Amino acid sequence: MKSRWNDADAAALAGDPLELRVYTSRLLGAEPSLVLHGGGNTSVKIRQKNLFGREEHLLFVKGSGWDLKTIEGKGFAPVRMETLLELATLERLADSDMVRVQRSAMTDPGAPTPSVEAILHALIPHRFVDHTHTDAVVTITNTPRGPERIRELFGERVLYVPYVMPGFVLARHVYEMTRGLDWSRYDAMVLLHHGLFTFSDDAKESYERTIRYVSMAEEQVPTRAAIDLAGAVETATPEPDRAELVAIATLRREVGRALGAPAIARSTRTHEARAFSERRDLAEVASRGPLTPDHILHTKRVPMFLPRELDATSIASSVEGFARDYRAYFDRHATGRGLTMLDPAPRWAIWPGHGTLSFGPTAVRAGVVDDITRHTRAAIDLAERMGGWVALPERDLFDMEYWELEQAKLGKSVAPVLQGKVALVTGAAGGIGKASVTALRAAGAAVVALDVSPSITTTFTGEGVLGLVCDVTDRAAIERAVSRTIQAFGGLDVVVPNAGIFPSSQPIAALEDELWDRTIAVNLTSQMALLRACAPFLLLGHEPAIVVVASKNVPAPGPGAAAYSASKAGLTQLARVAALELGPKGVRVNVLHPHAVMDTALWTPELLESRAKHYGMTIDEYKRNNLLKVEVRSKDVADLVVAMAGPLFGKTTGAQVPVDGGSDRII
Ligand code: ZN
Repeated sequence: MKSRWNDADAAALAGDPLELRVYTSRLLGAEPSLVLHGGGNTSVKIRQKNLFGREEHLLFVKGSGWDLKTIEGKGFAPVRMETLLELATLERLADSDMVRVQRSAMTDPGAPTPSVEAILHALIPHRFVDHTHTDAVVTITNTPRGPERIRELFGERVLYVPYVMPGFVLARHVYEMTRGLDWSRYDAMVLLHHGLFTFSDDAKESYERTIRYVSMAEEQVPTRAAIDLAGAVETATPEPDRAELVAIATLRREVGRALGAPAIARSTRTHEARAFSERRDLAEVASRGPLTPDHILHTKRVPMFLPRELDATSIASSVEGFARDYRAYFDRHATGRGLTMLDPAPRWAIWPGHGTLSFGPTAVRAGVVDDITRHTRAAIDLAERMGGWVALPERDLFDMEYWELEQAKLGKSVAPVLQGKVALVTGAAGGIGKASVTALRAAGAAVVALDVSPSITTTFTGEGVLGLVCDVTDRAAIERAVSRTIQAFGGLDVVVPNAGIFPSSQPIAALEDELWDRTIAVNLTSQMALLRACAPFLLLGHEPAIVVVASKNVPAPGPGAAAYSASKAGLTQLARVAALELGPKGVRVNVLHPHAVMDTALWTPELLESRAKHYGMTIDEYKRNNLLKVEVRSKDVADLVVAMAGPLFGKTTGAQVPVDGGSDRII
């Protein structure tokens, strides 16, 4: 592993220890094989004067909820050293009490909650302390001779700590181990099955000690090929066939049932994942436990093993089997401890020949599982070549999964209304489509955004949204988009057929064939093809709904708009038939009739001005030319799309709802 330290970057921060701490924390965070998703933590000890002129000795330690990759100065919690060191002298302390006392010892009540490893950071007298959950070091300690092997490799300047539960128990263990210790003889500490600490009074030296020890460990693992492969971008992965897509959507539905909420299922079909899924010793090596205990909070202890051939029955029995085993595991360890059982749904599955699947209540959570299991697969592979993969005893893993700090979080948050749902929106690069994608995401859904414009691939960023270029009049392109949706998120619950064109005004007597054909093709025929491609997956969805974006022109057409009005009327009739056909199977189909939504690219300032002038109105009067005298914006329509996709319209199908500020022609 190479040092990412840059003298010029660091020189600019040299006067400010906290800024230097931010800098080297981010260097660690940039390396996924060192820390993943909020793992690891860093600190710096600073003496500074308070408002009363008294000097305080503070530990600035990573706050929970911050990621080393993106941490800022305000992501570090300033905690009084005196309190932290005094806490270490207590023989016993509940972690929830530890957190409470640490919070009360902060000099800034607005700072985040200090890391649970804060006391440990305080015990190490050096100014800078860097803690990572490095793959290479942990992989070596997860082998049969792991503890001896790592000792032989790292030598005398490292302290070796057997695995104990993180939090107070670990801090107390290290306190006992290091009383009276001459810390100058050490520059690192290995926590078996957990990670690495390095330290120094100098930021660069502490950081580079991490890099040096990790590099030594990396040289020991038989080949870097597996780790390299784990991070490689795959190119030639075959497209899944229809049966495979249906199996994934069925799996997602069953996992959602066990979870008690819709789940996101992300399939990983890379060469590496497929090779892993074909291991002969799979059930044996993959059922021993996670790479580091904290991963259990994301991945659960073991994956779900699927048979090669999947059908509805084998899928249901696999998920039920996993849930049954999980309940038995809970019962083995929970007796008399007053614990609340977590959901018994798997977080990842191995499907022989097809790769792996990651599950989560949100796309972000499923993505975290995917990242962690990719590293786990590589580590298992390497450890097996070093004599065998040894994970922690089940009891230690259970204690981590049912840590009181984790139990305390249960039931504290309310999920957004569409959390875990998967939506697909067409015509998503602008106007109502774009606003709908934004509103659906804000409501918790994972969204696939289709548009014919290439800009769609960059319109939205972040996890849980996928922008795909798709000409909706190309049926093969629609099939591909649906396939990509199932691969990325596991299924489909909400479809918003919105793509449409508004052609120039032509009276019937002069209507051009090309204009008529094109309007019907985009506004009507493509939507039929979309519904046909989506219907089989909607039937496997969670409280599925179709929200069709039609037009006020359906109930109140205008002269010169024959093609547009007829296409949208056809679309409305298509939706009514869909409501009749799909209603008995649980799929709701409702229609929106927006009008005069003028905050879209279609309405240029020039067009607005000329239309307003045409009617003898100001622009503002023209925008509010309805009974309620309100302006109808894209967001207003999008909010109604979300409502119709969710439980508010849970008992409504076949409805047509205007969103037009009120029209005397319709009322
Ligand atoms: Zn740790």
